[in-house]
Amino acid sequence: MPPWKSGKHALHFWMQFLKTLVVFSLCGIISAYSNVHELMSSYPLIDGHNDLALQLRIRHSNCLSRIDLHNVSKVATDISRLQAGHVQTQMFAVYVLCGAQQKDAVRLTLEQIDVVRRMCTEYHEFELVTSVQELNSSKDRGKIACLISIEGGHSIDSSLPALRMFYQLGVRSMSLTHSCNTPWAESSSDFYNVFQRQNNSLTPFGKAVVEEMNRLGMIVDLSHTSWNTTLAVLNHSKAPVIFSHSSSYSICNHNRNVPDSLLRELKKNQGLIMVNLHSQFISCRDVASISHVADHFDHIRKVIGAESIGIGGDYEGATSFPQGLEDVSKYPALIQELMKRNWTEYELAGVLRNNFLRVFDKVERVRDQLRSNLPSEVQIPLEEVQNPCRLVLRRPDPKSLLSNPSSRAECGLPDLLILATVLMLSRLILIE
Ligand SMILES: [Zn+2]
Repeated sequence: MPPWKSGKHALHFWMQFLKTLVVFSLCGIISAYSNVHELMSSYPLIDGHNDLALQLRIRHSNCLSRIDLHNVSKVATDISRLQAGHVQTQMFAVYVLCGAQQKDAVRLTLEQIDVVRRMCTEYHEFELVTSVQELNSSKDRGKIACLISIEGGHSIDSSLPALRMFYQLGVRSMSLTHSCNTPWAESSSDFYNVFQRQNNSLTPFGKAVVEEMNRLGMIVDLSHTSWNTTLAVLNHSKAPVIFSHSSSYSICNHNRNVPDSLLRELKKNQGLIMVNLHSQFISCRDVASISHVADHFDHIRKVIGAESIGIGGDYEGATSFPQGLEDVSKYPALIQELMKRNWTEYELAGVLRNNFLRVFDKVERVRDQLRSNLPSEVQIPLEEVQNPCRLVLRRPDPKSLLSNPSSRAECGLPDLLILATVLMLSRLILIE
C-alpha cells in the first residue's frame, strides 16, 4: 500500500510533502527575487514619466534648499527610492497647468526646467543628460540620469523659436498636448473648452512643430493627444515617437490609453509605448493589482511585440497606484511578475531600457540626416492663436491704433508704448 494511503504513515507522509512544497516555494521566491535585482542591475530602468518637478512647485515653491531630495515625505519619488527601484534614467516632466496657456506658460516652463537642472547640479547622484551617449555613460558612472520632457505643447506658446530655445536648455521630448487642445493639436480630453477642432487635428503649424522636433532630435510624445492627432503625427513624423505614459485601451478603455489599431501604426513607426501605472488607466478603477498591470504588458506584447514596450510610471502626476507599486522603489515587483509570466531576459532588457535607447538613437539619426535643413521659420497665423495679448513686434501704426481701439489695445497698447519709447531712446543714443 502506498504510504499516502496507509493510515499509520499517511499523516507523516503528507506533513513531509507539505514541508517540501513550502521549501520549494520559498526557494522559488528567493531565487526569483535575487534574479530580478540581478537583472535590473544589468538593465536598470529608463522610466518615461515622472512629475516630481510639479510636486516640488506645489509643495515647496521649487525651494530646493528647504528639502533633502534623498528622502522626501508625502511623495513617491526621491533619490533613495529611485536607487532601490533600479531607476537609472528618469524622464522628468516640466509640466505646467493648462490654465497657463495664453498666459505665462513659457515662464512657468522655464522655471520647471530650472528646478530639474538645479536638482542635477545640487545632488551628485543626479546628472542631466541630453543624448544616448551621455545616458549610457551616466549608467557607467552609477548616476541617475535626468532627461527633461515638456508635457503639453501649450508650453511653447505656438512658437518654433521657443521650442528651439527649450532644446538648448536640455529638453529632449515634448508631448504635443496635455488635457487642453493647443491652437495646432488636439487633446484626448475635452476637459478644457479651448481651441475646438474642426477636422484639423494637426494643423499645418502642428505639422511644422513635428518637423522641427524631428530636425532638432527631440522625441515626439503622443501621450495625451487625441486619436486623430496621434494618427496624423504617426503619418507625418520621420522619426519614431513614444507614448511616454499610456496603457492599453483594450484592457482598460480610458481615453488616455492606446487602442490596438494605433498600436499597430506605432509598430510601423518603430515607436514605443511606455506603460502607465496609474490605477485609473490600469483597471479603470481606483484600485488595481500588479497582475492587472502585467495584463497590459501581455496584451501589448501580443499585438505589437515586446520590443515596442517600455515603462512610464507617472508617479507624482497620477493619484492612485496598484497595490505593491506605491512608489518608485517598487518597480522590481512588476518585473518579477513579468518573469513569472515567462517574459524572457531579452524581452525584459528591452522593456527596462533597450527599447527606449533604440528609439532615442533613431531620433538622433534622423536629426543627423536632417542636418542640412535650416531652422524652420514657419509662424502660426495670428488668427489661429486667438490671443489678444500676443504682441507683434513692429513699429506702431498710429492710424490703426486710432481706428481700432479694440480688445487688442488692452494688452497691446502698453507694450507698444514701451516699444516706441525704446525705439526713441535708441535713436537718441545713436545721435549722441
Ligand atoms: Zn500626463
